[in-house]
Amino acid sequence: MEHYKDTYQYQGLRKKLVEELKQKGIKDEAVLRAFEKIPRHFFFEKAFSEWAYQNKAFPIGNGQTISQPYTVAFQTELLAVKKRETVMEIGTGSGFQAAVLATLGARVYTIERHETLHRSAKQRLKKMGYAGIRFYFKDGYKGLPEFAPFDKILVTAAAPKIPEALKMQLKINGKLVIPVGDATGQKMLLITRVDQQHFEEKELGNFKFVPFLKGISRK
Ligand code: SAH
Repeated sequence: MEHYKDTYQYQGLRKKLVEELKQKGIKDEAVLRAFEKIPRHFFFEKAFSEWAYQNKAFPIGNGQTISQPYTVAFQTELLAVKKRETVMEIGTGSGFQAAVLATLGARVYTIERHETLHRSAKQRLKKMGYAGIRFYFKDGYKGLPEFAPFDKILVTAAAPKIPEALKMQLKINGKLVIPVGDATGQKMLLITRVDQQHFEEKELGNFKFVPFLKGISRK
C-alpha cells in the first residue's frame, strides 16, 4: 500500500462526492462525514484511483464490485448505526462498507465467500488502522450464530428471498437491510424485529447488486 497517498486533490474529490450524495438525498451527517474522511481510492488498484470518487460501482476481481457510493450511503443511512452497536455485514468485497461502519463507531463483523477478497480486504483495513473489524471467510447465508444476536445486519449482495437464518440473528428492535430480487433488479428492504416472532418490513426503492451466492470459493 506504499503507493497509496491521500492528497488535497483526493480530499477535494471527496468533498464533491459528498455534495453529490447530499443532492441525491443522503441526510445523515455521520454518514456524510465518513465519506469525507475515508480515502476511497485506497480500495482501488493504483491505475484506477481516478475512478474512486465517481458515483459508480467498480470491479474488484472475482466478478465482484465495490458498491456505488450512493448505494453504500443509502444502506448505511437505513441501518441507523449508533456507536458501539454490533453490525454483521455480509459481502466484505473491498472492505469499503466495513470501513464506513467502523468509522461510525460500530463493532463490525464482516463475512466474505471469496478467499482472495477476504484476505485482501483484511490486509488493506489493517494497514489503514482499522484494528477492530473482525473478518470471516464463510458462507454469509449462515451468518455468525456464535456472535448473534446483532443490533444490525447489512447484506451487500442481492438475495432471491430474505434468509431466515439472518433474521433470527437480530436482536429485538434490531434492523436488517437487504436487497431482495433477481438478476434484473432488486428492492431494498428494511426489516425490523418487533419481537421474537414478528418482523416489520419496509420497501425502499430499486437497486442492482451482484448475487448473494451459496457456499464459499477458494478463489
Ligand atoms: N460491501 C462490499 C461490496 C461487495 S459486492 C464493498 O464495500 O466493497 C458483494 C460481495 O458479497 C461480493 O464480494 C461477494 O463475493 C459477496 N458475497 C456473495 N454471496 C456471499 C455469501 N454467501 N457470503 C459472503 N459473501 C458473499
